[in-house]
Amino acid sequence: MNLKENISLKELNSFGIDVKASNYLYVQTIDTLKEVLDQDRFKDPFILSGGSNLLLMNDLDRLVIHMGLKGIEVLDETNDEVFVKAMAGEVWHEFVLWCIEHHYGGLENLSLIPGYVGSAPIQNIGAYGVEQGACFNSCEVLDRETNELVTLSKKDCEFGYRDSIFKSKHKNRYIITSVIYKLQKNNHKLHIDYGAIQTVLKVKGIKNPNIKDVSEAVIQIRSEKLPNPKELGNSGSFFKNPIIDKDLLDTLQKTYPEIPHYTQENNQVKLAAGWLIEKAGFKGQRKGNVGSHHKQALVLVNHGNATGKEVYEFAMEIIKKVQEQFAITLEPEVRIIK
Ligand SMILES: Cc1cc2nc3c(=O)[nH]c(=O)nc-3n(C[C@H](O)[C@H](O)[C@H](O)COP(=O)(O)OP(=O)(O)OC[C@H]3O[C@@H](n4cnc5c(N)ncnc54)[C@H](O)[C@@H]3O)c2cc1C
Repeated sequence: MNLKENISLKELNSFGIDVKASNYLYVQTIDTLKEVLDQDRFKDPFILSGGSNLLLMNDLDRLVIHMGLKGIEVLDETNDEVFVKAMAGEVWHEFVLWCIEHHYGGLENLSLIPGYVGSAPIQNIGAYGVEQGACFNSCEVLDRETNELVTLSKKDCEFGYRDSIFKSKHKNRYIITSVIYKLQKNNHKLHIDYGAIQTVLKVKGIKNPNIKDVSEAVIQIRSEKLPNPKELGNSGSFFKNPIIDKDLLDTLQKTYPEIPHYTQENNQVKLAAGWLIEKAGFKGQRKGNVGSHHKQALVLVNHGNATGKEVYEFAMEIIKKVQEQFAITLEPEVRIIK
């Protein structure tokens, strides 16, 4: 076991926050994972994957297990579908590219989302009208309570908008070791309704797109719109898009008739958190080392050597102002680790 001590996590979280882990272990086998969890001194380890959905507030005085389980394999297939198992430590975007290379459709809209495969189910990652839950078949997890491997079905995971049991009722109970996706081998069902995807395909003169075209369009849009964490530290969207009752929308529309909204079930609507933050005056604003991105207000950025506390305080200021102005409480999408 190559256990390290007093390791900086600056390069291992996309916000680039410089905190230290008292103990750090890159884990490449399930046996090692089980062995570690069996030891009393490592009772409450922190699982780190790509570090792209985190705000680290303090040094972590506990073991950080960096997920290094690798491997992709086809488990089963029919004429139309294929079941692909990817280990938790595979880089998500590389896995998506592997699927496209093998002509397996379903995940192409999720190209270029940072992070590892094992974290994708946690907040049910989504982009451009698709969530990973749409292709998710099952996942294997290590139950911290028993140190046994268990298989969880799609139903067990209770996927919602940026949500699952891994963020709510079973938060921190399971360590995801692998995920199985059910993908389409042919007759790919494309999701190209988003205006931005349509525009890119049109500009490129693509009339009958395939999954690779959609992936490339998404990569282009994302590269133009979102800051690259390697150049400007960030964790993508800091807040979730709020879902509110239609009654509140009716009230808000009296002052803001142009407010963007998307109809949901049960007489509810989803609003764009980025729009609310922009209207609250934060877009492109900088406070010390922290700011809201000039192209996408929802993305908070580390302009230099920001601490987790500085980012947190800026986020709280945004929540307060949006609450005062719109009577809506923004909820962080990013996991805040105190
Ligand atoms: C530029 C940018 C753009 C982004 N765009 C999107 C987007 O379009 N859509 C979207 O949904 N998200 C987006 N995100 C957020 C992020 O990419 C996803 O949430 C991603 O799934 C996080 O993966 P990760 O491996 O980096 O997780 P980490 O940040 O390492 O971990 C996140 C949480 O999951 C826990 N965890 C990690 N791995 C495991 C595991 N194997 N088992 C159990 N718990 C685990 C960690 O302890 C932590 O609490 C974006 C982020 C960035 C920086």
